[in-house]
Amino acid sequence: SSPLHVVGGGLAGSEAAWQLAERGIPVILHEMRPVKRTEAHQTDGLAELVCSNSLRSDDAEYNAVGLLHQELRRAGSLILRTADATAVPAGGALAVDREAFSQAVTTALHDHPLITIVREELTTLPSADWGPTIIATGPLTSAPLAESIRQATAEDSLAFFDAIAPIVYKDSIDFSKAWFQSRYDKGTGTDYINCPMTKDEYEAFLDALLAAEKTEFKEWEKDTPYFEGCLPIEVMAERGRQTLAYGPMKPVGLTNPHNPTVKPHAIIQLRQDNTLGTLYNIVGFQTKLKHGEQSRIFRMIPGLESAEFARLGGIHRNTFLNSPRLLDQQLRLKALPHIRFAGQVTGCEGYVESTAVGLMAGLFTAAEVLGRDLASPPNTTALGAILSHITGGAEAETYQPMNVNFGLFPEPPVERDERGRRLKGRDRKKSYSKRAYTELTPWLEQVSTIG
Ligand code: FAD
Repeated sequence: SSPLHVVGGGLAGSEAAWQLAERGIPVILHEMRPVKRTEAHQTDGLAELVCSNSLRSDDAEYNAVGLLHQELRRAGSLILRTADATAVPAGGALAVDREAFSQAVTTALHDHPLITIVREELTTLPSADWGPTIIATGPLTSAPLAESIRQATAEDSLAFFDAIAPIVYKDSIDFSKAWFQSRYDKGTGTDYINCPMTKDEYEAFLDALLAAEKTEFKEWEKDTPYFEGCLPIEVMAERGRQTLAYGPMKPVGLTNPHNPTVKPHAIIQLRQDNTLGTLYNIVGFQTKLKHGEQSRIFRMIPGLESAEFARLGGIHRNTFLNSPRLLDQQLRLKALPHIRFAGQVTGCEGYVESTAVGLMAGLFTAAEVLGRDLASPPNTTALGAILSHITGGAEAETYQPMNVNFGLFPEPPVERDERGRRLKGRDRKKSYSKRAYTELTPWLEQVSTIG
């Protein structure tokens, strides 16, 4: 049969090419390095880790990314197998010797009889003549291809940098201080979570914000355009002591039911971030503060003293699609269904998540060309949770890259201990991972029938 094309030899593209070839499908893998370089990659190797050498926690019972490792191993992932083979000691994390890891992935793909690696940049989205094609060009997708993707989709469907506001687990918010209400009771009237601040609390918060340590822009990030609507919160704070109180923290159109007679000096709003309603982002709080500083300073907000963050804020170059709007459940571009996207360009975030989306794109494509049915993995599994988040579970309006976390899973039924108390914290996480383990099994059986 004629070969399929995978574009981008990073984590996602390498995994996708492997999954196809292992099912007897010839693949041409297009990688632009070393012909054309990115700002972050240092080598010519496939699956190069651009920054940390850690694939994060390997704890499959209590940690969602550890669970994703386990699921990838069970699904026959090349990336996870290679990571295990090149692991270095890292406590409970899975970290690798980055050179050995990249070399081993490169060799595995190079030596596979059905894979041909071509070193060239793809500058336009291929036509349907190419057949089903996987685009896995990552956060640093080259400019001409990004432009071609933008033209095939819509003006505002491709983001070029992340301006990420921190995301909080709803069940870590203190509702004896916070309350649900939309400004002027618009929408359902209760679309937002609100946290009030007195004048003294506001002044202290501002001092902390101005004094906090910021991360520096890397040389190549300095050209990142800020849009006025997306200024980091600390940059806004520098413009004047009341700028925030008149901007994202304005206290108008809201009444604090816990203290209705006293008007707050400022109000912080949180907006629902996923369909399940388990995650909320702090509106307008995109930031370049260091992560440790963010948890410390944002916990000064009344109601967020014990907040747990599903992700902290950040700003860096990152090309990604508005996937909830543009992709179908099988990662195909709705407008051009011969194109499938995989990896971080879909708006998942991180090495392991990109690998997972690469694996699924490879399997869906294999099933398609071999004429088999392959459903999406259930959203109670880590694979399914990340897939359903990017293909529809996330709000398209505020779509931002996301790591896997238990907030993306539907809540498991309440479990109780022997004294009848609801399981919380660590014990609760175990209910997610136990359920995921069981519910992935039938999907893996379906995968084993595609070839
Ligand atoms: P990549 O691994 O980037 O692979 C994409 C590949 O496509 C590249 O090899 C690129 O050369 C190639 N390519 C691009 N355009 C074209 C084209 N037009 N034609 C042909 N080939 C093309 N994640 C973490 O988990 N931990 C971290 O510490 C971390 N640090 C990061 C630091 C930086 C500076 C950046 C930019 C990202 C970081 N990430 C980190 C995110 C990380 O990039 C992704 O998680 C992961 O590498 C994405 O995998 P991918 O396969 O989607 O993309």
